[in-house]
Amino acid sequence: MKQPLITLSALLLCVAGAGADEADWWDTGAFQCALSHYAEHGSQTFHGKDAERHRPPDRVVDFTHMQADLSIDPIQGSVAGTVKHTFKAIGRPCSELVLHAGGDIKIESLKDDQGNDLAFTHRDESITISLNKDLPVDQSSQIQIRYHSHPKDGLNFVHATVGGKRIREAWTQGETTFTRYWIPIWDYPNDRFTSEVTTRVPADYRVIGNGELVSESVEGKIRVRQFKMAQSHVAYLLSLCIGRFEEIKDLTGPVPLWFVIYPEDKANLPNSLRRTGEVIRVLSELSGHAYPYAKYSQTVASEYPIGGMENVSATTLRRNRVNYDSSAALVYDVTGLVAHEAAHQWFGNIVTCRDWAHIWLNEGFATYLTSLFFERADGKAAGMNALRGMNGWYFGETQRYTRPLVTYVMDKPGSMFDAHSYVKGAWVLHMLRHKMGDKLFFKGMAAYLQRYWEKVADTADFRRVMEDISGLNLEAFFAQWVYRAGHPKLTAKVKVQTRQDRIVIELSQQTAKPFDMGLVIRVTGRSGYRDWPVRFRQAHRTVEIPLKEAPRTIEFDPDGVLLKELELEIRPLWLFAQVQHGSTAWARADAARELGKLTGRERVVSALMAAAANPKEPLMVSKAAVKSLGKLATPEACAALMTQIKVDNAKLRYAVFKALKKCKQGPVASVLIQTIDSDASVYVRSAALEALGNFPSKGNRSLLVDRLTTQSWNALLANGAAHGIV
Ligand SMILES: [Zn+2]
Repeated sequence: MKQPLITLSALLLCVAGAGADEADWWDTGAFQCALSHYAEHGSQTFHGKDAERHRPPDRVVDFTHMQADLSIDPIQGSVAGTVKHTFKAIGRPCSELVLHAGGDIKIESLKDDQGNDLAFTHRDESITISLNKDLPVDQSSQIQIRYHSHPKDGLNFVHATVGGKRIREAWTQGETTFTRYWIPIWDYPNDRFTSEVTTRVPADYRVIGNGELVSESVEGKIRVRQFKMAQSHVAYLLSLCIGRFEEIKDLTGPVPLWFVIYPEDKANLPNSLRRTGEVIRVLSELSGHAYPYAKYSQTVASEYPIGGMENVSATTLRRNRVNYDSSAALVYDVTGLVAHEAAHQWFGNIVTCRDWAHIWLNEGFATYLTSLFFERADGKAAGMNALRGMNGWYFGETQRYTRPLVTYVMDKPGSMFDAHSYVKGAWVLHMLRHKMGDKLFFKGMAAYLQRYWEKVADTADFRRVMEDISGLNLEAFFAQWVYRAGHPKLTAKVKVQTRQDRIVIELSQQTAKPFDMGLVIRVTGRSGYRDWPVRFRQAHRTVEIPLKEAPRTIEFDPDGVLLKELELEIRPLWLFAQVQHGSTAWARADAARELGKLTGRERVVSALMAAAANPKEPLMVSKAAVKSLGKLATPEACAALMTQIKVDNAKLRYAVFKALKKCKQGPVASVLIQTIDSDASVYVRSAALEALGNFPSKGNRSLLVDRLTTQSWNALLANGAAHGIV
């Protein structure tokens, strides 16, 4: 009996990494960049008691160029060769410099530009090198290091199974401070340099590096490739992917696009990466700058530990996130990840955060640009859906801790890759956009790139550009949203006075120190709507709004421009009207969510049902309605969900089957059993398996046990069955 238990727990662990629950997260256009591997999921505090301030180290020299010639053996898991660094002294003459080199790196020789041996010490991941001279300020010099290593980190050698066959490959993951484990380098993002990397690997392997492929040859059994980065970059963006890849190149657009995949995955490529060219074009428009580099490659690597990494001009993507068939593609869409990593090529790569305390400038921008891509390419509701879809991650995290976006106190740099940096970072930019207005915000974004092009920047630099462009004093904005932890938690109680000539709204804030915010209250009557902007900076405030006619809906922040949690005490009548006639998709989705909190009212179900079944509604609204029906799970709500089990849109159908999870009426079971083998979407089938767990008959249980061994993409069916059983 031990074996099934082991199998079950293994499957459930797998769910946490790539399971059905994630599809909801992904199809919002979100991503999983540098996330699962590094962030401390589940800890109750952001950092431990002994956490230190991680300030950027002083720079003695400015590294300007790096040239490497490396032989890499993917079978033995080794790297050996030379690296040459060019540098000049900063501020004062220098006689000693430091590089980072960790793990198994063994230095064979270290020489100056005349070929003289230099004395050095190598300990604690640092090499301290004596230059044997005082290098005058601004004068360039070089050192050359010969070394070898069997890296255990940074450059990862993996044994993977692709299409049933065992393969060996290798890839680097530099962020945050892992490049030092395979090459001696200045491994901190406060310095940038250009680079040329020559690689020598077995001839049947291909290496994907950064920038332009300037030469390639096969010398005997060795393939030699040289990549050159003409634009400077920081160390963590240096990358190599080494495998028996096929390179598919699209040279029809302004940017050469490389799709680097295993030949077995070719048929699935259109499911995932088909919008890459469009993404690059739209991001160029939004950022105000053409794509900066010689090519844009996306390499799909096996067993890559995170969803994707924006290595400069050469993104690496995780194969089991990107290689999916048409059945999975009905629900799952990785375009959000593609857009996120591409956005980093501007925000993160051509301009890089100066140190880890300011990582929100990388991740917040890439996350917000993803939402902006969908807004520009697919319409406003799609953009807002991408933004809204991430809120759960951030609000969930704030149940455990809040922190300022910028903080030097952290356990380690990897701790900064949490929902605060991604989601709150994106929301800060969204709020700044509405404060400045579209024209000035986008002008400011382009100016920020312009001013710090091929430089490093921090939050103060960004703020100064936005102030210069807009004329606004943004000190208070940044103090509240970037340097202060948390977000507003509001309650709004709405009453109509007995004379019916005004509504009275009692606003209150639950945070110990109130936030200062603008809140739009939109009152709609028969003759149209009027906005009442309210500045709310007290713990409590009563707002009276005069009425000329009976209000049909009263909406709070209907355009979704404020990061907040809001508890509403409002007449259900207004919510019924709002879910159907709300002025924006955002407001209608808000009403659908609020209705899920009301029980014992027949009309709640019919109002939600109308929203769920309206084919003209954006997914953001219909999914919110379906979710609320599932939350209510009354016989009426379940009956309403049952009318939607054949809805054409698989994403909505998946939401319906997830919502059926709490429905235990007899007819549900037979629908689930039919769906398990017949639905076109593997996600829907997985959700049906999980919901069937509510009906613990002997036959159902044996069906679920049988499906534990069914092959499917990312083991979705086995995971659904496992969740149904436990
Ligand atoms: Zn990212």
